[in-house]
Amino acid sequence: MSSLVIAGGDIVAGGAVRRGDVLVADDKIAAVGEVPRGAATTVIDASGCYVVPGGVDVHTHLDLELGAVTSADDFTSGTRAAACGGTTTVIDFATAYGSESISSGLAKWHAKADGRAVVDYAFHMTFTELTRPADDVLAEIVEAGITSVKLYMTYPERLMVSDHVIREVMRAAERHRVLVALHCEDDSQVAARRAEALAAGRVAPKWHAWSRPPEAEAAAVRRAVAMAEDTGAALYVVHLSSAPALAEIRAARERGLPVFAETCPQYLYLDAAMLDRPDESAARFVCAPPLRDRWHQEELWEGLAQGHLQVVSTDHCPFDGRSKDAGTSGRGWRDFTEIPGGLPGIETRLALVYQRVLAGDLTLEQWVDRCCEMPARLFGLSPAKGTLAPGADADVVVFDPRLTRQLVPERLHTRCDYSAYEHLTVTGWPRVVLARGRVVAENGEPVGEAGAGRFLRRASGRGA
Ligand code: MN
Repeated sequence: MSSLVIAGGDIVAGGAVRRGDVLVADDKIAAVGEVPRGAATTVIDASGCYVVPGGVDVHTHLDLELGAVTSADDFTSGTRAAACGGTTTVIDFATAYGSESISSGLAKWHAKADGRAVVDYAFHMTFTELTRPADDVLAEIVEAGITSVKLYMTYPERLMVSDHVIREVMRAAERHRVLVALHCEDDSQVAARRAEALAAGRVAPKWHAWSRPPEAEAAAVRRAVAMAEDTGAALYVVHLSSAPALAEIRAARERGLPVFAETCPQYLYLDAAMLDRPDESAARFVCAPPLRDRWHQEELWEGLAQGHLQVVSTDHCPFDGRSKDAGTSGRGWRDFTEIPGGLPGIETRLALVYQRVLAGDLTLEQWVDRCCEMPARLFGLSPAKGTLAPGADADVVVFDPRLTRQLVPERLHTRCDYSAYEHLTVTGWPRVVLARGRVVAENGEPVGEAGAGRFLRRASGRGA
């Protein structure tokens, strides 16, 4: 048996900060608190550092084909980058397109990930048609170890489902204790504005954002909440980007509904001004929902501090510059609808959110809750993940508040050739990252081989 003690750090977990040690035996946490010196064969000195549960990123798109292009990171490079930044669990989206069966969609994602990941991973299930009763579909998904589905209220050409399908799934979701995650943008508004922009020859990236206004997001969230309330389902809104949408979440939660939402660093740190750059540069900042005017950011930070938003995930979906320029056709984009959407971010989440701890706007406990603990609980990964307690998987981050890092591509490990945050230098970075007891990153550089990451079968986390 190998054992290791992380000694003398400030342990941030379970809503408290206390100085102490973490004893790791093989792949599990064996003890937290006072651990006798000599109890372990290896000692990691964590003095001056925060010791936190490994980060849990519940929104990634690794190895995702989109028309002629593919997202820049596969399960090896993506999870390696995650590990370097302190994230030790990711949940990606297995997708069955059109009439494809759930088992076939799922098999494809297992094939992408199996034996390739550096850290543990799970899947949400996305489907775009109900080819069988929702009850049967959800039973199959739960049997496969998946306890959340993600459906889209937009992207009619590829992913959108009708409200009828959403309601059918929501009705069945409660019986199967499945959490329903929705991409909320009202497609009737988006389609009308998109047509109007294109008819006027407005093809540049900034018109992508114009075609998807905050009101379209808020309207979809309102509709989603109404459907959840009507069917009794729990709802999780992904990548919430705007103040009006946040107001809808807050109102639903204040009425006591089991409604949850995440936001992402791009909506907390970047704004629509990025889209005023020349076309090629602006295309790198195209995502949906789009980057918003700057004032939304403070509202989102406030929502995180107040707990109206429960999770920060990344929606890591990087397309390198060549793919952005090639467009989904592969022959160069002609208008904003052909620009592959998405930004890199899997490595920078913990440090970016930590900056607001330094600024005094979030507590250490809130930082760990939103990035590590709550996502694990909501998605049925507890108690193995997102906690520092005896018996949990030894996914541990020794976060050194003295390290600084310029967020330029040369210092990061995504295969994406640009950084969305290259204008920023953060204070605080993981010094040592353990995934099930193995050191997978040290001083922000990868250690060891890929392939040890395992698929996590999840319990129901709904209503956490
Ligand atoms: Mn996404």
